[in-house]
Amino acid sequence: MIVTGDQIDGDLALTADVCVIGTGAGGSVIAKELAQAGRDVVVLEQGGHYTKDDFTQREDEMMPLLYEDMGQRATVDQTIMILQGRNVGGSTVHNLCYCFRTPEPILEQWRTDYGVRDMLGPDLKPSFERVEQMLKVKPIRPDEVNALNNKIRVGCEKLGYSGFVTNHNRENCTQSGFCLLGCPFDAKQSMLITYVPAAVQAGARLYANCPVRRIVAEAGRVRRVEGEVVDALGRPRHRFTVTAPVVVLCAGAINSPALLLSSGIANGNGRVGQGLHLHPSVLLSGIFDEDIYGYRGIPQSYYVDEFIVLERDPRSGYILMPVYGFPVMTATQLPSFGAAHFEIMKQYHRMVGILVLMHDQSTGAVTVDRSGRPQIWVMDTDGLNVRRITFNDSWADRATWSPAPYNEIAYAGQSGPGFDIKIYDVATGQTRVVTDGSGSNESPAFSPNGRHIAFSSSRLGKTQIFTMARDGRGLRQVTRTGNNTFPNWSN
Ligand SMILES: Cc1cc2nc3c(=O)[nH]c(=O)nc-3n(C[C@H](O)[C@H](O)[C@H](O)COP(=O)(O)OP(=O)(O)OC[C@H]3O[C@@H](n4cnc5c(N)ncnc54)[C@H](O)[C@@H]3O)c2cc1C
Ligand code: SF4
Repeated sequence: MIVTGDQIDGDLALTADVCVIGTGAGGSVIAKELAQAGRDVVVLEQGGHYTKDDFTQREDEMMPLLYEDMGQRATVDQTIMILQGRNVGGSTVHNLCYCFRTPEPILEQWRTDYGVRDMLGPDLKPSFERVEQMLKVKPIRPDEVNALNNKIRVGCEKLGYSGFVTNHNRENCTQSGFCLLGCPFDAKQSMLITYVPAAVQAGARLYANCPVRRIVAEAGRVRRVEGEVVDALGRPRHRFTVTAPVVVLCAGAINSPALLLSSGIANGNGRVGQGLHLHPSVLLSGIFDEDIYGYRGIPQSYYVDEFIVLERDPRSGYILMPVYGFPVMTATQLPSFGAAHFEIMKQYHRMVGILVLMHDQSTGAVTVDRSGRPQIWVMDTDGLNVRRITFNDSWADRATWSPAPYNEIAYAGQSGPGFDIKIYDVATGQTRVVTDGSGSNESPAFSPNGRHIAFSSSRLGKTQIFTMARDGRGLRQVTRTGNNTFPNWSN
């Protein structure tokens, strides 16, 4: 069963054995395996469910529909563009079908550097074989190598560079060349037409247009995930919760750590979001005297490995890959302006591009956006174990920690037009609202014994100071004239 956002007409409360977040290369495989093993699986996907009839071969329509940030995702300094999918099938819907097994020297490096166990070639061989069979992985035929790739192959052969034609996951490919915009012929064996249908057939329930906003853990265990049902433009329509004892997070290399960070979980060592590696690539383009029409045929099939020898050094080197771009994509990468730019674009059909794909050793970080709407975060005194504790407030501030023996944080949280005083119990992770929504209630201050809270409230018109017990009972008005804010207790 695949349910899309427009088929959901109210809030959802689901339960499952396993909740899988994301339907790309990771999520759909795990969903299928678990569903076939008899588990009750709910799969959540932030993007829509699009099929071959939706893939119009137009970059102005497909880039906004299928890619994160409408195809404009980039590093903070805007120096590296990051292409990632956001649809049922994830990035496999628009990837370029190169199919490699993880090279043995890389697996060995993971073992020695990071202690990854049971993941060497012999361990993984049965899994590789199984996935390759499912995705119909096989070599590209010589007659399927297009003019652009052939140009580079001939050049490399003349120079004596090592290169080869790769394995791909295509079946009955018409060589239309539109792989990056979704395959309109169901030839690309992406998750959309392989593992996702198999998971659904085995009983997995897949909800599209359902971005997860928070994974909730209590007493050190994941309990549920929460999120929104959105419309085609990403506007929230309803809320959902999925209560499951096991959550598998497969939201991609950026959204997965972002979700952990914004949920405030699993970051005991402060490493979540750290150590991000991209595949930075430099684009070189040449204009030939003859017509190439590089956009026709299978976009990438040849692969140059002359400058990377993993057996000798698994940490450096680069590969060369033929590349082409659709007109707008190409135009944005070319130098010059106006008439001069137009003259270059007139040579579009003669261009041959090559990507220098580096083995990235530098690291970046994923951080979550805290701008605009303050939220409450806590951390240890050494700055580690940073975690967010407010999620349901559009604005949360003025946090204050209770004195012992209570272990609570009071803050002002905005969920409607005004603020309410809310108390977060550090031990249980539960939050309770102790004011009743009258006026705006702000600036909580615990009494020295922790049993009472003073706060300011506009419930009677002007802002006055009130006190109450820490459970919200016994409300008392303390000031009556003028405007009074920011209460404080004497010791
Ligand atoms: C243009 C392009 C070309 C590529 N070419 C190749 C190639 O030729 N060969 C190759 O091996 N690899 C290629 N890749 C890379 C490959 O596709 C990815 O490495 C792989 O898909 C990653 O799998 P994943 O499951 O980690 O993430 P993805 O496949 O990206 O899936 C993540 C899914 O999680 C969803 N998601 C994210 N956040 C949330 C949330 N909060 N709630 C719910 N759902 C969420 C996303 O919408 C997405 O559907 C290419 C990638 C791109 C973009
Ligand atoms: S080249 Fe093949 S896989 Fe790519 S879009 Fe065309 S038919 Fe689909």
